[in-house]
Amino acid sequence: MQDKTLWNSCLLFFEDTLTSQQFNSWIKPLIFEIQGNQITLTAPNSFTLKLVQERFLPEISKQAELFLSCPPHFELRTKDQPLNLLSSKLPVPITNIVPSTVCQLTLSKHKNQNKLNPLLSFDNFVTGKANQLAHAAAIQVAETPGTTYNPLFIYGGVGLGKTHLIQAIGNHIKHENTQAKICYVHATNYISDVVRAFQTKKFDEFKQFYNSLDLLLIDDIQFIADKTGTQQEFFYTLNSLIDGHKQVVITCDTFPKEISGMTPRLTSRFSWGLTVAVEPPGLEMRVAILLQKAAISNNPISEDVAFFIAKHIRSNIRELEGALKRIDAYSRFHKRTISVELAKEALKDLLASQNKQISIENIQKTVADFYRIKVTDLLSKKRTRLIARPRQIAMCLARELTQLSLPEIGTAFGGRDHTTVMYACKTIESLRNLDAPLNADFNLLNQTLRN
Ligand code: ADP
Ligand code: MG
Repeated sequence: MQDKTLWNSCLLFFEDTLTSQQFNSWIKPLIFEIQGNQITLTAPNSFTLKLVQERFLPEISKQAELFLSCPPHFELRTKDQPLNLLSSKLPVPITNIVPSTVCQLTLSKHKNQNKLNPLLSFDNFVTGKANQLAHAAAIQVAETPGTTYNPLFIYGGVGLGKTHLIQAIGNHIKHENTQAKICYVHATNYISDVVRAFQTKKFDEFKQFYNSLDLLLIDDIQFIADKTGTQQEFFYTLNSLIDGHKQVVITCDTFPKEISGMTPRLTSRFSWGLTVAVEPPGLEMRVAILLQKAAISNNPISEDVAFFIAKHIRSNIRELEGALKRIDAYSRFHKRTISVELAKEALKDLLASQNKQISIENIQKTVADFYRIKVTDLLSKKRTRLIARPRQIAMCLARELTQLSLPEIGTAFGGRDHTTVMYACKTIESLRNLDAPLNADFNLLNQTLRN
């Protein structure tokens, strides 16, 4: 009696809020069973199961809370694999469920930020030329922690998937070995831990905690620049873990040697393992990411729409997600289906502010400032490496970021021939594959100009 009422109420809700296609493919096939406060949902396959778990379970839980007198307990399984994949006691929101053996330092005040997010996995990480190496290295480390690349150092600009990758490593290892002591910590929280350990004289606890880990994931290490005390502590922790064959994974916004305010002994230690970059995704990869993200949302998009967004939003993956969310909200608000026309309207402000920013003067000034040279040097006939290389980078950026033709770019760089611009672009393209610091500079400039 009770089971029917509860499930019927869920069905009504989803019928109301989803399209009939979504409702028929994801909700209708679910088998709902209840015994006391034990609810079992059986899905036809693991894809549907995952989707239900990520998108619909919170609502089902909410409904169950209204109907049951004590907190429900959930079991999710597929038809052919009667495995208990998730069990939770409400009222914990589903997205906050965290494996119990993910370690927390008791003196830490930021428990929530230090958790592994189960939604950031290898399964939903789209790969392409821009992140292939980083992805392969991450998989390798996740499968054989402590024995191959240690530390694994992943660097790249904002919104390119560093946190996603480092968390995916944690989730994978957690899944393979439930006993592993894992800590994910953002560098700013690590700094607070060091400070608090000093203040509360709990240094032994601090040291013991970090040294006893099987896996340390530290995100955005650039934040410990200029923090000498923290760097010293981190240096000891790093050495102790690596010596004990415990895996360390570090992310950073730049190449190790380029982090200013970092002690050289630490940056050189960073490079002992493997250093890999995540780069801004190319057009095809941006399309693939959009299609994947839209497919697991409630509002899928066509390839046309994906191409339209990908052509205009080029800076990073977080921005792509933002654009997708905007379009999604706009379509729901106006009750219209998503088309290129609708995407254009929804992103109007974003596109206008983006397009006007990138002028060739802006590129020249940004590149000159970055390399601490004068704009007039970029436009001059000087051929020393210190000037010529930034000039080639600026030309290559102008080619990528503006609509100007090769001759127009040549003219803007002190009246040079279009073949010079072409040569500059080719040179930088091949150097980017050979010279990691140059590639990092290029990506940083590219992102700065686009943001
Ligand atoms: P970073 O830490 O480099 O600033 P994040 O890892 O936070 O970037 O990524 C920003 C957003 O983009 C996150 O929501 C993440 O899940 C998503 N994302 C990044 N890279 C990918 C990818 N290759 N495939 C799918 N989603 C991605
Ligand atoms: Mg991050």
